[in-house]
Parts: sequence; C-alpha cells; structure tokens
Amino acid sequence: MTREKEELVQLETYAADLSRTYSELRRHLHHLTALHEVNTRIASALDPDEVVAGMLDSLSELLTYQTAAIYLLDLDVAVAAEGPHTVVPAANTLARLRAGRAMQEAPLPEVEGSAAPDEGTIVEAMRDHRTVGHMLTSGELQLAVPLLAGGRSLGALELRLGAPLGEDDVKIVELLAAAAAVALQNAHLYQETQRLATTDALTGVSNYRHFHNLLDLEVQRARRMDYAVGLLVMDIDHFKLVNDRHGHPVGDLALQGVAEQLRKRLRRTDVIGRLGGEEFGAILPGDSLAEVAIVAEKLRHAVEEMPPLFGGMTATPTSLTMSVGGTSLGADVVDRQLLISCADHALYEAKRNGRNQVRLWSDPVVPAPPERQSA
Ligand code: GH3
Ligand code: MG
Ligand code: MG
Repeated sequence: MTREKEELVQLETYAADLSRTYSELRRHLHHLTALHEVNTRIASALDPDEVVAGMLDSLSELLTYQTAAIYLLDLDVAVAAEGPHTVVPAANTLARLRAGRAMQEAPLPEVEGSAAPDEGTIVEAMRDHRTVGHMLTSGELQLAVPLLAGGRSLGALELRLGAPLGEDDVKIVELLAAAAAVALQNAHLYQETQRLATTDALTGVSNYRHFHNLLDLEVQRARRMDYAVGLLVMDIDHFKLVNDRHGHPVGDLALQGVAEQLRKRLRRTDVIGRLGGEEFGAILPGDSLAEVAIVAEKLRHAVEEMPPLFGGMTATPTSLTMSVGGTSLGADVVDRQLLISCADHALYEAKRNGRNQVRLWSDPVVPAPPERQSA
C-alpha cells in the first residue's frame, strides 16, 4: 500500500470515528435536553399524578422499551419508615400505575409467602436502593430503578425491554428516576400541607376557614349558574355534660362519631365543616328549603341513633342529640353572610324550642341575634 493510500485509510477511520462521536454527542444532547425539559415540567408539579405522567412521557422519548410501570409506596408509609433498609410493605399494598392506561391504583396479585419473581426485582430495587435487572422467563429483560428521595425509596420504575440497555441509557433512566422522586416527594408534601391547612385535625372534615372559603365559592357559582344554596348549622345538645360526665377523650370520640355520621349521609358534592367546638356546618348546593329539611332531619335522626356514650365518672350512659338550623336561598338573594345568619337564627330557634329538632329560616329579613336585641 502506498503512503498516500495508508493516509487515506487512516483519514477515513478518523472520519468514521468523528462521525460516531458526533452521533454520540447528538444523542447525549438529545437526552440531556429531554431530561432538562422533564425536570422543568415536573419540578413545579403540585400533583403526584402529574409527576408520574411527565416521567412516563419523557421516558418514551428517551428509550425504546416494551412496557413501563411505576410502583409507588404509600408515601406516608415510606416517609415514616426509618433506616437505609426501609421495610417495604407487602407487594400487594403497592399501587401500580401502568403506562398507557388510566392511572388507577390496582392491587398487585396476591402472592403466597414472598413476592413473585417479577415483583421481587422491584422490591429488591426499593429495599437495596439500587437498580436491579433480571431476565424473565418470557425472554424480556426487567429493569427496576428505585425512586429515591431524601435517602428513602418512594417506589420504583420498572421497564420491560426487548434488548439490554447500554450503561449510558441506564444512567439516563436513573437520572430521570432521581428527578421524578424528588418531584414526587415535593408534590406529596404540598398536598399534605394543603390537607392539613384545610381540615380539622380531630374530625377530618373541613376546618372553619376552609368551610367559609368553600361557601363563598359556592355562593358565587350559584349566582352565576342560577341555583339555590342550602346551608345547615348543627350543634350537639348539652355537649358540656358529655365532657363533665365521661371526660374529654370520650367527648372527642363523640365528635368524631358525629362527623362520621354526617360524612356518611351527605352527598359527595356537599361540604361538611367543623365550625367550632361541637358545631358543624353543611353546604348543600342546589337544595331547596324542602330538600334541606329532609337532609337536616336525616342527620338529626342519625345522631339520635348513635350508640350511647359510656365511661368516665358515671355509670349512666349519655345519648347524643343534635339541634339543626337550615336555610336555602335562591340565586337572586344568596349571600354568604345571609345564609349563615338565616341558619344561625334557625338553630337558635331549635335550641329555644327544646333542642333535638330541626328548624328552618329562609326569610332574608333575619331577626337580630339575642345579644343585640337586649343591647
Ligand atoms: P347547648 O345544647 O346549648 O349547645 O349546650 P352545650 O353544652 O352543647 O353548649 P356549650 O357551648 O355550653 O358547651 C360546648 C361544650 O363543647 C364545651 C366544650 O368543653 C365542649 N367542646 C368544645 N370543643 C371540644 C372538643 O374539641 N373536644 C371535646 N371533648 N369537647 C369540646
Ligand atoms: Mg351545644
Ligand atoms: Mg355550640
């Protein structure tokens, strides 16, 4: 071979190398851009579902795989578990979110003894905080990447592949999983903070502030869409006696029991709130006064039917009763303060007339409260 020929061959080799390097770099750039995009998208997500969707979307841009699934531990459990070897709850408590399907929680198949081999890989990745790969009997390669945040596994990403992934691709999946895990934890914390800020810690129903905000929203919606708003204000009768006779802890249980009765009997579109100590409220969107009366009576009856309270200083059981004030105002007059004044006045009448009863008031002219009458 002449010298020129040799040089030419060498140049061609260089050119081929350069071209390979160039395509590699382009591929890396594509990966990094996709990672950056998904990071930006999920970092600000306030809903864990949004994070999961973002992660699965970008995964399909980055890699070729047969299926992708995300397994999430109950985040409260994951956060509560201590130590590097987080105890992974039984596989069937994992929520399985399959790509391409509606993201619904579905229990994993029941497994005798330990987890089935497929699930074993996922559990191993979560427990050992590392990526685990296994060849399945179907010939597919199963890759499980833990979703790690703050040194804990929140779940795992599982890929089923037709061919093994290169080291770089595995790294990309791990980077994506790491970003998604942090975003998931943030979204979960945000939702948890929201829940704590809006619910009453003892009973789990809306707290005073949230209830009033929702009532405001409902009034605005009713005016715009032209429907009535019903409101109930409910107060347990002689509740002080319950505490005096049976002690505060029994009183607390009674409040939880009443909240549970209200929750069970109201519609999902109704709103229940704890307005104060032993006082609850319910917003009944769209209900006329006649409908409010039916619901009010149903709730009053439900409390009356609760088992009597025992315990504390006395052997005598105490039965609970509740007085209810109800109102409904049409779209033309509905107003938050007026709804509250009407329902409060009706409740006052129920108490004055002997308690354990429902009273209604929907006249926009509400008599002044008794304190002001005497002033
Ligand atoms: P009425 O029929 O007129 O409503 O009488 P009442 O005894 O229910 O009303 P009052 O306002 O005199 O007393 C309310 C009681 O509710 C007093 C308070 O100790 C109790 N209470 C308020 N919040 C809680 C709570 O979170 N837990 C418990 N156990 N008791 C509470
Ligand atoms: Mg009371
Ligand atoms: Mg009260």
